[in-house]
Amino acid sequence: MPHPTKITFAETRAAGVSGVLVYCSDHRCSHWTRLNADQWPDDLRLSDVEPKFVCQACGHRGADVRPDWRSQAQASTGRALRT
Ligand SMILES: [Zn+2]
Repeated sequence: MPHPTKITFAETRAAGVSGVLVYCSDHRCSHWTRLNADQWPDDLRLSDVEPKFVCQACGHRGADVRPDWRSQAQASTGRALRT
């Protein structure tokens, strides 16, 4: 397997993650952006949308999509601050 199977958007949402980080798959470019994951259906895998991206910096097609764990931190901080 050249690529590991990635999780679905339902699983990212279940983990409290609301956004994804999209990295240009051209390592010499390393352009990236953050997107809200609400726009994709639950049964779609993160890897399913990767071929649809075209890099705005270099024009390369294909991206690496990863959960934005920082978007999850807000929810856990809220719990931690509760008295
Ligand atoms: Zn690029």
